[in-house]
Amino acid sequence: MSDKPSAYVLRFGELALKGRNQDRFVDDLIKIVKPRVKHLGGKLEKRHKKVLLRTEAEPEDVRKALSTVFGLSGISPIWIVGHDIEVIKEKAWELMAPHCNSDKTFAVRGRRANKRYPMNSMDLQLELAGFLLDQGLDLKVDLKHPDLPLTVSIELKETWLYLDTWPGLGGLPVNGKTKHGLLLSGGIDSPVAGHLIQKRGGSIDAIYFHTPPFTVEAAREKVVDLANVLARYQNGLTLYVVNFTALMKTLRAECLDKYMVVLTRRFMMRVAVALLEKVNGQSIVTGESLGQVASQTIENITAINEGVPLPILRPLIGMDKTEIIRISEHMSAYPISIQPFEDCCSLFSPKEPVTRASLKVVHREERKLDIEALVAEAVEHTEALAIEARFPIAEST
Ligand code: ATP
Ligand code: MG
Repeated sequence: MSDKPSAYVLRFGELALKGRNQDRFVDDLIKIVKPRVKHLGGKLEKRHKKVLLRTEAEPEDVRKALSTVFGLSGISPIWIVGHDIEVIKEKAWELMAPHCNSDKTFAVRGRRANKRYPMNSMDLQLELAGFLLDQGLDLKVDLKHPDLPLTVSIELKETWLYLDTWPGLGGLPVNGKTKHGLLLSGGIDSPVAGHLIQKRGGSIDAIYFHTPPFTVEAAREKVVDLANVLARYQNGLTLYVVNFTALMKTLRAECLDKYMVVLTRRFMMRVAVALLEKVNGQSIVTGESLGQVASQTIENITAINEGVPLPILRPLIGMDKTEIIRISEHMSAYPISIQPFEDCCSLFSPKEPVTRASLKVVHREERKLDIEALVAEAVEHTEALAIEARFPIAEST
């Protein structure tokens, strides 16, 4: 077996297309990768259209460390040698020899970033493939879809050899400066919504509306656990826990039962806007999906949106529950989301929520309330929790 890779090439696919913005994206990427590879003694170097991670760590640990990084299209473990063709051959044989006597196919791919290198890519390929076969490599060549694509890349000062490219998470690196306010309940949907915003490079702060004693402490803990999962994909976040009890009690006492859900959501928006103003938040994100439950209709969404001065992003709007669950599992939120604790809305939810809210009725109901005072009270009864991202991520979680 050959020794461990000397480094890893972090590739950024889509990022590479971003022209002059590329530098900023690469800086964001480095900020995200750095704390994740610190415990592996990882050193990062910017290279043309890629980043090189040097570490002596076990490849499996590197793979885990990079499994929460958006903005990577692929990760190649590489072996680095000099430019001497004899040394390159020796390394190529070391990498390929363990695969002798298997039914795998192979191909050698030559690349040349250093145009002064005396061999061109084609010569390099032929020379190396010929050498490997002479050494006794008994694998079939498949130029189109080889199981083992041995790539040999002549860089400016060194040569990289690699066999494998692990898929990255895709998307764009999370940019710590653009904040989105995720309405995070303990359910399946909202953590996935937050995750998809992170995937497009937005960082989130989360807002949870808690209704003690109607919702148990364990429900709040569940939301904290979900916030911890989200925090792994960016460098920590703030979770605002809003005490919503007084507001919910007032709504239940004063307003039409059928309209509880819509009225509650409208207050969630107002409180979210007030909290986000302080941190220059740029949008509100929810886990709503059109028609998923009776209350998530376009009429209700219209009523919820009315008067909200920030864009409301609903990344799940067109998704099926099965698709949402798949992402929830993939991001490791699902086992937490399915723990059975009721959130405030299921406790306060009416038997027959309105499915086509009328703005006229909404306004009539809200005239019974001192909106500003209710919002101010909720904001005052908000606790801001700093949720840090710790690496490596514990195995059990
Ligand atoms: P989820 O699975 O995210 O709970 P859901 O399908 O149960 O969503 P609803 O309960 O109707 O849908 O809530 C719609 C959205 O409103 C949620 O996705 C979330 O963004 C927000 N929301 C609901 N309840 C709360 C809460 N207690 N705190 C914060 N946000 C909430
Ligand atoms: Mg819910």
